[in-house]
Formats: sequence, C-alpha cells, structure tokens
Amino acid sequence: MSRLDRLASRLAETLLVTTPANVRYLTGLESSNAALLVEPDGEATLYTDFRYAETARRLDRVAFVETRRNVLAELAGLLAGRRIAVEAEQLTVAGFDTLVTAGVEPVPTQGVVLAMRAVKDDGELDAIRRAARVSDRVFAELAREQFTGRTERELAWWIERRLREEGATGTSFDVIVAAGAGAASPHSHPGDRIVEPRQLVIVDAGAVVDGYCSDCTRTFATGELSEQLAAAYELCLRAQLDGLAAVCPGAQGRAVDAASRVAIEAAGLGAAYGHGLGHGVGLEIHEAPVLRPESEDVLEQGNVVTVEPGIYLPGVGGVRIEDLVVVTDDGCERLTTFGKELITVE
Ligand code: ZN
Ligand code: ZN
Repeated sequence: MSRLDRLASRLAETLLVTTPANVRYLTGLESSNAALLVEPDGEATLYTDFRYAETARRLDRVAFVETRRNVLAELAGLLAGRRIAVEAEQLTVAGFDTLVTAGVEPVPTQGVVLAMRAVKDDGELDAIRRAARVSDRVFAELAREQFTGRTERELAWWIERRLREEGATGTSFDVIVAAGAGAASPHSHPGDRIVEPRQLVIVDAGAVVDGYCSDCTRTFATGELSEQLAAAYELCLRAQLDGLAAVCPGAQGRAVDAASRVAIEAAGLGAAYGHGLGHGVGLEIHEAPVLRPESEDVLEQGNVVTVEPGIYLPGVGGVRIEDLVVVTDDGCERLTTFGKELITVE
C-alpha cells in the first residue's frame, strides 16, 4: 500500500498537509511551498507554485493544482465552508487566520504523518545507512587530523567539506566542534577558540544522503587528560552503552532515557547531564520518537533514534557520545560504527 493510502486509512476527515518534510514523504516532491490535501477515501491533491509545477505535474499518485506564491491564501478560497484537519505543529497563527477568514473550519491535529515517518521502510533505512557510512568515514579520517593549534571553526569547516566530498548533499545541521571549556555547553557554536593540548573536543556532525540525515558525536582528547576529564569520558561511555542496551521494541522512551542516567546519577553528576538521551532521525534531524524523561513514545521495530548522553562541567569541559541506531526485532543495530574508546589526537 502506498504511503498516501496508508495515511488515508488513518483519517477520519480531510487532512491538509503543510509540513514540507511530510509533503515530501507522501508525494516525493521537495518544496518549501506546497500543500497536500488528502481525503479519507485516498484522493490527494497537491498545490504548489510555478517553481515546482513541472516536477509536481509528473507525480502519478496525486492531482496537481498550480497556485500563486501564497498557496494557503488560494487554498483557503477553494476550501471555504469545509471542515479541514490541519497540522498544528507547522501551520502558523497567520496561516490559521487565513483559513478562518476565508470561511474554512480548521481542526488542529498533531503527529498524524510524523507517526508514519517514525517507522522507516527499507528504502529509507538504506539512505540513512549510507548517510551514516559517510560520517563514519569522515570521523575515521578526522581522528588522524591535527587538532591543536586549529580553531573550532577551521575543524568544523574541514568536516563539512569532507562530508560533502564523501557524498553528502549537505549536513544534517551545522557541524559542532567544541573544545575545552566550550564543550561544557551542549549546543555550542564553533568559534575562534583555538584547540589546546589536554582538552576534550566534542565533534557532532551528520550527513544528508537522498534527503535522509545521519547524526554522530564523538569526543576526542588532545593529549593526556586530567583525572576529572578522563573519568567523565568513561562515565559517559558507560551511560551510552547502558542506553543502547535498553533500546528494544516495546521499550518506553522515558525508560530508555532513565537507563542512561543510572551510572551518571550514581557518580553524583546527574545535574551535569541536562538533556534528553536521544531523538528520532529521518528526513528531519529531530523527529519522532523521542527518548527523554517526559517521553510518552514506545519504541517499535524500524524506528531510527540517537543515543547520546553527555556530561557538561562548567568551566572545565564536556563529553558527549552519540550513536544512531535502528530498532530491530529484539534490540537495536548501530548505524554509526566508528569506535568509542577514547581516541587521543595531536
Ligand atoms: Zn548529534
Ligand atoms: Zn542528535
């Protein structure tokens, strides 16, 4: 059954899909300005402007209507008087108003297409595997690069260039390189900080291949570490292995997250691990399901998630270790296979 037919079978009323990744998932059209109307009987109409018209016209499963640049304003007129389910996570307040003003009754819904996207099919898994292999190759090469004396920005650019040379069409997100005290913040932006000896350097990077993302973090040491940093690394690795061991179909997102906290909390560093364990990855770098203390998600075979605990010590340094995994019938398989024993670089 096609993705559109599967979606239709889940619908009680007409759904207006406006999230670009959802439109792409359902039709194959990559557009920043498109809307897809799906009826419960499976009929589907795609609306987009001139720039995407030629591609849209060639899609076989959907009818196509070319619109002006403001797709929603035009659609609102066509849908006047109807009750239409909309994607509450994506539709803006302005877009909602446009519909209401035109006489549409929008009904906010959440996660309908996202729930489908959370379980990957073979073609999607193949693309994610290829994306992960690209980053594996680049991490292996990076481990032979000179770190000290270079800035975080220089290293980040080296990584981005190598990812593209290895086949990525882009990066899943801006590459993170965070050295020394800069590594004490989970989402630090690479800056002009020069990497120095005896620091931990967090490198978080992902490749996009055929529209699908990979995501991998490794933390490197630039020379012999203080006892505190060496212990933090071992503790983070323990937590990461505990998290991986808890991933299996039927496991709750919050339970997998909790498994990764046991060792860190026992060491008195619970507060230094201030983010969730992981997130789903696919067409978007953050999607369902999530592994966080408040997660209601339950893992299923075919989910692709990250497992990425971190320990952040203000003023001192930080460590994060992240793998991308696919949930199998009895556990998980790592897609990012580059080694996790502490690697010392120059
Ligand atoms: Zn990451
Ligand atoms: Zn991640």
